[in-house]
Amino acid sequence: MRPDIAATDALADSLARLLPALESFTRFEGADPAARRTLWRAALDEPLPEAGAGREAVLETLRSYVIANGLRIGAPGFSGWVTTMPTTVPAVAQLAGAITAAQRWWATPGNFLEVLALRWLQRLVGLPDHFEGGFTSGGATANLVGLAAARQHAGERRGFDPSLDGLQRLVEPRVYASTEVHHVVHRACGVLGLGRRALRMIPVDSSRTPDLDALERILDEDLAAGRTPVAVVASAGDVNTGAVEPIDAMREIAHARDVWLHVDGAYGGFGVLDPRVAPLYGDLSKIDSFAVDPHKWMAVPVGCGAGFVRDGGVLARALTLEPAAYVEMAPTGTGDLGSPFDERGEGNPDFSVDHSAPARGLTVWAALKEIGASGMRARVVRHNDCARRVAARVREHPALELLAEPILSICCFRVRPEDVSDEDTLDALNERILLRVRARGRAIPSHTRVNGRFAIRPCFINPRTTLADADATVDEVLAVAGELGAIGERALRSESPR
Ligand SMILES: *Cc1c(COP(=O)(O)O)cnc(C)c1O
Repeated sequence: MRPDIAATDALADSLARLLPALESFTRFEGADPAARRTLWRAALDEPLPEAGAGREAVLETLRSYVIANGLRIGAPGFSGWVTTMPTTVPAVAQLAGAITAAQRWWATPGNFLEVLALRWLQRLVGLPDHFEGGFTSGGATANLVGLAAARQHAGERRGFDPSLDGLQRLVEPRVYASTEVHHVVHRACGVLGLGRRALRMIPVDSSRTPDLDALERILDEDLAAGRTPVAVVASAGDVNTGAVEPIDAMREIAHARDVWLHVDGAYGGFGVLDPRVAPLYGDLSKIDSFAVDPHKWMAVPVGCGAGFVRDGGVLARALTLEPAAYVEMAPTGTGDLGSPFDERGEGNPDFSVDHSAPARGLTVWAALKEIGASGMRARVVRHNDCARRVAARVREHPALELLAEPILSICCFRVRPEDVSDEDTLDALNERILLRVRARGRAIPSHTRVNGRFAIRPCFINPRTTLADADATVDEVLAVAGELGAIGERALRSESPR
């Protein structure tokens, strides 16, 4: 008899029952049924059960519904989002960590490797060793952590501690970012009590470079009016077009006014691994904070971002925990107490907004241990090549138009039949084409707007994607445009230069 109705044994058997289904899911075989929600919703929706259905029933539901109807974002043709399905080893590492590294607070190999992975990650993206930080649940929290440190810095410069005293003395706080900034930065401003309206949007030009004169002017106007600039946020790989903003120039403008410079590299932070674009990142040792998302380009399971700051002290004061009786204990002075439960883990709990948390970084360790820095570099270069391949195909085709020159692994383009020039018609046409392409299932790009116009937007970060999939994306768009009669036979076949 088990003491508890929940199984605490039979792990191997439980996994064994799911493995064939999981293995087959990762092959993305067979049709991906559209509108499947109607199939599983009704079966899964039930009231809180009074009596448990037992282990077997749960495993069966996992197998036949959860796994069978999983979202195939790891399929090689999927280039829709900036998150992807994990590769095998980090996914398995997550399971190992969930079972054995129950709490990052305590000394376990999982905890140790998490802290080691943080160092590795920092090396990988080119941040100096004295930067400090921690893993977060994702890019949203990594940006929140960076901006919390910025808020602390702004308050301390004015002689008070915002984390302790609140924000009354932070007069009209302002944060500056280009119009391409990720919308989680607005929310971070809201959560931090600065207000979403505190975000000053700096316009970008047609190549998506922020207007630096406008940034300086607006900063100076705010300072003259007695407002409090808290941070300038530079996007290193915006999610619309993959542009890397001029970090060095934005930092110089910010630092000349004693303002914090935060870099949102959640998606594009890893872009620095491609030597062709690395110079765009400038001197990262001089920035104040950096957000990067291993659960994007690094393809570890979702739930893993990382935030770094140049001055760990500011961050610790921003996120400090008050002492609590249940964790304080008089030092015994006896050295090794002999129990593993007396050993605190590595890493600083004051660098995070979580309290209890998994050893998230274990998956990052696993990914880097498996493929090394060179493997990550090759992946980033290949994906940037994919975007360049799409751009080259688009440039060659008379009925396609490149809307933004790829910088990283995103390529924004659209169908533009020679006889259509009305912008609204083009938007509607491209939206239709995109939906049809996705329904066909071979290539799944997404969309955005570039200079106001609807763009088809493949974003290549999927480890399973190759140049052939980039080609297929263009082929599918052309095929659908042909089907819809938007471009003629001649245009369909033509790839001659304009
Ligand atoms: C994905 C992303 C975010 C948000 O990160 P989450 O991991 O989704 O929380 C923020 N900024 C950029 C540039 C991103 O690509």
